[in-house]
Amino acid sequence: MMDGTYTFDLERIFIGNLPLLFFVEVVMRTTILYMWTLFMLRVTGKRGMGELTALELLIVIGLGSAVGDPMFYPDVPILHGMAAIALVVLLHHATVMFTNRWPRAHDFVIGRPRQLVADGRLDLKGMGESQISREEIFTGLRQERFRHLGQIRRLWAEPDGKFSIVPYEAGDVRPGLPFIPPDDVEASVKHPAGEPAPESHVFACDYCGFTEAFAAGEVLPVCPRCEHDCWQYASDEGVRSGPAPAAA
Ligand SMILES: [Zn+2]
Repeated sequence: MMDGTYTFDLERIFIGNLPLLFFVEVVMRTTILYMWTLFMLRVTGKRGMGELTALELLIVIGLGSAVGDPMFYPDVPILHGMAAIALVVLLHHATVMFTNRWPRAHDFVIGRPRQLVADGRLDLKGMGESQISREEIFTGLRQERFRHLGQIRRLWAEPDGKFSIVPYEAGDVRPGLPFIPPDDVEASVKHPAGEPAPESHVFACDYCGFTEAFAAGEVLPVCPRCEHDCWQYASDEGVRSGPAPAAA
């Protein structure tokens, strides 16, 4: 305990030894830190926030320390903590109103859905922008009981990190890149570019999911879409019998 203080000193607990004008400083500190943290959350990490948007996470962080510090530290007056809490809530509401009015601000603060799969193939640009790996996408799809990319018409990553999936209707499923984990006994064999196709089959690019039919003995090229140099047999699970589409 600090010198010259005694327990249950109400003035110290609520106001502290600081001049009243320090409230203005608390307001300034809170506002600057709120803005700065929001900016850093959006710039550094679009992911890794669990299921919270940056704005929701900021409320948790901001209220957490504003509530916690006056609980333990004898020199942090409760009124300063209360001012910071009220201000964090106020700033949150102001930011929500602001982002509702300005779509560009909404995109920056909240984010927008990013396309990760289109027409049975990975959207490499959307993956780069959202910093989401193909393994994360495949994990999400496996959890929804899909077996290959040819079953997926669209997949978006929502701002809270969840995936929205639009599968193909039963008749529209096409051959696609299987995403069975590589250790599984059913995992398909990889066929490097430059080697002949062992049999006539629809092949899927092992990286982006681009599909193309190659005849037996035809030398496999690099993927014309992403230049990756490895193929797998495309899975035709769920594809209606009949003339299968040769390419996606
Ligand atoms: Zn590819």
